[in-house]
Amino acid sequence: MNKYIDDFMAAFPFEGLTYDDVTLVTQYADFLPDDASLETQLTSRIKMKIPFISAAMDTVTESEMAIAMALAGGIGVIHKNLEEDEQAAQVAKVKNYLNGLIAKPICFHENDDISFLRSEKRRMGLKFNGFPVLDAEDRLVGMITSSDMRFAPMNAMTLKDVMQKAPITASPETSLKTAYDLMRAAKVGKLPLVDADGHVVGLYSFTDVQRLVENKNPTYNCDEKFRLRVSASVSGGKGDISRMEKLAAAGVDVVVVDSAHGHSQGIMDMTKYIATHYPDIDVIAGNIATGEAAVALAKCGAHAVKVGIGPGSICTTRVVCGVGIPQLTAVYNAAKALRGSGVAVIADGGIKLSGDVPKAIAAGADSVMLGSVLAGTEESPGEKIYSNGRQYVVYRGMGSMAALKNGKGSRARYFQDNEAEDDLVPQGIEGMVPYSGRVKGIMTQFCGGLRASLGYCGARTIAELKETGKFYRVTAAGLREARPHDITITKEAPNYRT
Ligand code: IMP
Repeated sequence: MNKYIDDFMAAFPFEGLTYDDVTLVTQYADFLPDDASLETQLTSRIKMKIPFISAAMDTVTESEMAIAMALAGGIGVIHKNLEEDEQAAQVAKVKNYLNGLIAKPICFHENDDISFLRSEKRRMGLKFNGFPVLDAEDRLVGMITSSDMRFAPMNAMTLKDVMQKAPITASPETSLKTAYDLMRAAKVGKLPLVDADGHVVGLYSFTDVQRLVENKNPTYNCDEKFRLRVSASVSGGKGDISRMEKLAAAGVDVVVVDSAHGHSQGIMDMTKYIATHYPDIDVIAGNIATGEAAVALAKCGAHAVKVGIGPGSICTTRVVCGVGIPQLTAVYNAAKALRGSGVAVIADGGIKLSGDVPKAIAAGADSVMLGSVLAGTEESPGEKIYSNGRQYVVYRGMGSMAALKNGKGSRARYFQDNEAEDDLVPQGIEGMVPYSGRVKGIMTQFCGGLRASLGYCGARTIAELKETGKFYRVTAAGLREARPHDITITKEAPNYRT
């Protein structure tokens, strides 16, 4: 509980504040920003290394973005404007990205010449050795390692003459950890997985397995089987039950029941359904902007709620429908109502610059969801275009006319499943954002900005900033002072856009 923030917010009854309306107060720090931790709760049960989530939008998150986000320590939510099988395939792609298992290893036959193997390696540019060797019926009969090649007898002609016969193998279901233990004990660099008929169905390579199991890259957001974590969105009501089944089969870690109005029966029913039928998969439900809605979704079994009605850069909900609550107040409302429940709060939409992130956290958020900030990256699925000699990337609202026409997911998000095309009423716009390079670079800037903020605020962790952060209200003059002023910018900074 943050008494200061409670008193501050109580001073604005019936007034909605957003990020630019406040600034954080500096406080004593006995540590350096580099020592601050960015670890946070994605949901009540799942932690993340950094508090960043890529938005469930068709111009933001598909598998490439989700992989980049999980490698950086966050997570991506694969959008639902995809056919069910395609969305599940994208989830599987993220889950399989780091599993250390080579699904289709390159194999040779026992009667192949040694010179053939050498020329094939050159042709394919392979730097490694360690190939399964098969008989005429494609059954595993040996392995070729780098020592077998180096110490091949002068008169050896075929692979049969140099291979290691009766190699150590494992069954197709062997987990990464079991493979690690087996390979360590047997001191082998390659472990072929062999089915009941003797056919090779996969291969573990010790270098990959060791990197994952010994966690040499502590920034990755991985599950207990060392696979990247991934999320995907579904709609409310009964329409997405088979989508949910396919996502679960593909190994999804977290599902977002995503809607423009999360405080509604269909979203609550679907949240309850997933929480009951898939107890091992976490559910995030949204979007909402009030404490009452947050409590209602938590009662349905949500492990996190997503807050944001109208703050998005591409959103027209506030002007088309006249509804929504400025984001800082909305986040505070939800977080206050959920205190003590363990249910996490995600601030979704309206993040423009890294300084907005610690403000969302001090208001009670555990993490933030990013749309426009990530839409311009190499990894986003948005079309890359040129305009006036500069590169841009297409970014559109899921409630924009193009997205509504294109996908069932968008229509469901805006409760327009059965409308004829002429009757569609958009709540978002289509546009473009400047190309911004790779996700890694953006995350470096956002994490750096957040770390520096924790240092300024004297908070070593995100949880501590939630407890001790303090706001001051900013006037119009204060806002002008906060941005670069009275100067013409001549060089773009990597973390500041006008
Ligand atoms: P941004 O980070 O400010 O660009 O906002 C992204 C967020 O806006 C998404 O995560 C959604 O919650 C929300 N959003 C996406 N599409 C639309 C839309 O068409 N209208 C309103 N909100 C949208």
